[in-house]
Amino acid sequence: MKAKSGDFVLPGDLLGVSEEFVPSEGAYDDNGYIKAMVVGTVSLDDKNKRIHVLPQTGTPPVLNKNTTIIGQILEVRGQRALVKIHFIKDNPRKLVASFVGGIHVSQADKGYLAKLTDAFHIGDLIEARITKVVGLDNIDLKTSHKDLGVLKAMCTRCRHFMKQTGKNEVTCPNCDNKEKRKISVNYQV
Ligand SMILES: [Zn+2]
Repeated sequence: MKAKSGDFVLPGDLLGVSEEFVPSEGAYDDNGYIKAMVVGTVSLDDKNKRIHVLPQTGTPPVLNKNTTIIGQILEVRGQRALVKIHFIKDNPRKLVASFVGGIHVSQADKGYLAKLTDAFHIGDLIEARITKVVGLDNIDLKTSHKDLGVLKAMCTRCRHFMKQTGKNEVTCPNCDNKEKRKISVNYQV
């Protein structure tokens, strides 16, 4: 079963197998199966063996390397923080699919970071840059730049948003709890 040129597809739809085709823009390889990354129309290039999905007009742009996104920390576990991607920075059209990215501890800050919880906690709003798109729920992100990192930190004790009180420090106006973060220069409040 494989898609034909002109087929209308949704993110995650199967388009073909990687033995036959190479995913191009708007498509990705999921363990040997080529799937659509965006809502759009299939374009098959039989000569070059490429599958491309042309985004439907009015749907959000494709997430690419170096795109800056706004997202929220879902979970911090070990070496990796999971991020729900809300939208592309400066392009607040809603994303149609549910994109999830990850930040490895080595990509969180410029210097050495002993533990990822010194950079992020659940609920933090962040801005991050895409370094690699593997799939819809597998997007590598980095925040190791001064204009990247936490935009709004959420207190782990009482869930209030916190004020910046140092280069890497935020303080909760509600309970006076102090915590560490990798803070963006665009920190809000
Ligand atoms: Zn608090």
